[in-house]
Amino acid sequence: MPLQLYDTWSRTVRPFTPIQAGRVGMYCCGPTVYDYAHIGNLRTYVFEDLLRRVLMRNGYEVRHVVNITDVGHLTSDADEGEDKMEKGSRRTGESAWAIAQRYTDAFVEDWRALHLLEPTVWCRATDHMAEQIAFIGELERAGYVYRTDDGIYFDTSKQDDYGFLARLDREGLQAGKRVAIGAKRHITDFALWKFTPAGVMRQMEWDSPWGRGFPGWHIECSAMSAKYLGTWFDIHCGGEDHVAVHHSNEIAQTQAAHGTRLANFWMHGHFLTLDASAKMSKSSGDFIRLQTLRSRNFDPAAYRYLCLTAHYRSKLRFSWAALEAAHTALNRLRHLYRSWPDGGCVESAWVARFDAEVNEDLNLPRALAVLWELVKSDLPPAALRATVDNFDTVLGLRLRDWKPAEHDIPESIRALLDEREQARTERNWAKADEIRKTLTMRGWKVEDLPGGQRLIEIAAE
Ligand code: AMP
Ligand code: ZN
Repeated sequence: MPLQLYDTWSRTVRPFTPIQAGRVGMYCCGPTVYDYAHIGNLRTYVFEDLLRRVLMRNGYEVRHVVNITDVGHLTSDADEGEDKMEKGSRRTGESAWAIAQRYTDAFVEDWRALHLLEPTVWCRATDHMAEQIAFIGELERAGYVYRTDDGIYFDTSKQDDYGFLARLDREGLQAGKRVAIGAKRHITDFALWKFTPAGVMRQMEWDSPWGRGFPGWHIECSAMSAKYLGTWFDIHCGGEDHVAVHHSNEIAQTQAAHGTRLANFWMHGHFLTLDASAKMSKSSGDFIRLQTLRSRNFDPAAYRYLCLTAHYRSKLRFSWAALEAAHTALNRLRHLYRSWPDGGCVESAWVARFDAEVNEDLNLPRALAVLWELVKSDLPPAALRATVDNFDTVLGLRLRDWKPAEHDIPESIRALLDEREQARTERNWAKADEIRKTLTMRGWKVEDLPGGQRLIEIAAE
């Protein structure tokens, strides 16, 4: 089954063919580092990681570029409000530069904890000022820009198909506009460069042919993707919220300067939503992050497992109960995997079934179902281990590296173990045996070793 992917541009699932044989260029919009990433943001990066692993499984060498937005992302997508970095600086009293570094480091830590493969290139917007200014210069020469009191803007009325990615109704938007658009000529026009207002001290600002200031958010992705992947590459990804504004604007800029829609496939991860008990907006300052899960004794890999249970093009509703169920399933898989010996052969019929699912627009929920069916099959344990290892190159659960830790044993089981230890000390063998039976019924085997008791495995349901 050849790889098929959903392309937001054409609104179809279509066969994936690379532009250059054997290689794939992939650009993923990265974090705005004025605060920690929340688990919603992280769902999008897990989806992109799965995409990359599936591409690699199909034999492609993937060049994966992820940017770090450390300047220019305003608090409103309509080019108004403050720069998120400068606002973060006012909130914490640290410099905008120090904030960017701190949250970049925290982001990379989350990235690794989720077993996301390291990008080929991490690129920061502030390290690419010359490229962004040069790009705006090209747009100016091509006649797509105009100047207002506060910046240089892209004139979207110059493109007949502006907003096609989002199937934007431009006339409707313009006619129905409810917000003031300032000096912008059209509601969909967007800032390429913003001037530092008179009398304002900005921490992040640069000289440009148009005046001192800072770049708009969209230009960084067009400029950096062009630098690292060229102006026509294979796949551009991001969260679904990027379709209407950010990605539509990236396409508009690249179309104007280079005549391409930048990427052959545009792919978008759908949102993680929360049940009523929690919020998910970074700007509300109150959100769940990976550290929040850790502080409640969840392993970050359990969150990765949870993401595998929903297709990337459907919403995933987060709840603590769902995370708990994911953690239980993952731990069961880990214990089983550990009980199987090495030295078996990969079962190609099962691999073919798994590949058919992941190649069908990354159907990970169905691929997981194949995995559980395999686990419950009568394949010899060594073959199970070899085949699950093979699946794990896509799933990224790192089953091979896992070792049971104390906290994987539920409290109720631990209490039974303690009670049994007490019975053994009192030489009450009848009671110790009875507790052993209870433990077995709950799926835990206990071994009596000279040094004490040892739980050795959890049985499959
Ligand atoms: P940001 O750091 O706000 O620029 O967002 C980083 C990435 O997370 C972008 O690709 C967004 O589209 C994505 N994103 C934002 N909120 C969510 C959410 N609730 N669920 C999934 N992805 C999200
Ligand atoms: Zn971007």
